[in-house]
Amino acid sequence: MLNLVLFGPPGAGKGTQSQKLIDHYQLVHISTGDLFRAHIGNQTELGQRVSKLIADGELVPDSVTIAMLEEEIGKHPQAKGFIFDGFPRTVAQAEALDKFLESKQTGITGVVALDVTEEELTTRIAKRKAISNRADDDAEKLKKRIEEYFGKTVHVLPYYEQQGKLTKVNGIGDIEVIFDAIKSVVDTWKQ
Ligand code: AMP
Repeated sequence: MLNLVLFGPPGAGKGTQSQKLIDHYQLVHISTGDLFRAHIGNQTELGQRVSKLIADGELVPDSVTIAMLEEEIGKHPQAKGFIFDGFPRTVAQAEALDKFLESKQTGITGVVALDVTEEELTTRIAKRKAISNRADDDAEKLKKRIEEYFGKTVHVLPYYEQQGKLTKVNGIGDIEVIFDAIKSVVDTWKQ
């Protein structure tokens, strides 16, 4: 299997690049943010529980997120691989993912971290806000999301670095150029 983690702060381009990667490598896309938004849209019990946290830009507790992720993986027994977008966001989530994949006789192949400056992120999210109706894209909520990223999520990087699985890719510039850079990394993992 080819199991990729696409890593980066809010606005780094994870969604855009994931879409291109799933088309190119025929992977199943798992975005925990999209899954939560679907639960909120469908007004499920889970959606009701997490909607305030998400609107405020805070992380959803690990236990809730991990359970939802494992359930989603379980829906795709025939998958050639997965691309994890927006997960893991804490070291506990990374450990849980490793354990879960190991129980399925597989594991994370590699992690691509999109490198983007904080200044560029703020500009991009302001643009996205004009076209999306994500409640968490406004300036104050974005500040919280970036805080969560630098407070909790960034610690996931050394976790994968120690495993020799982390590659950083410049996330600023032309979408196709960034995609080509990611592809050349992933192609070395496929061999
Ligand atoms: P995203 O679309 O990935 O930016 O996620 C939107 C929001 O969903 C985040 O700001 C969090 O509130 C929540 N969320 C998504 N993925 C996770 C995760 N792996 N752990 C905790 N909260 C998450």
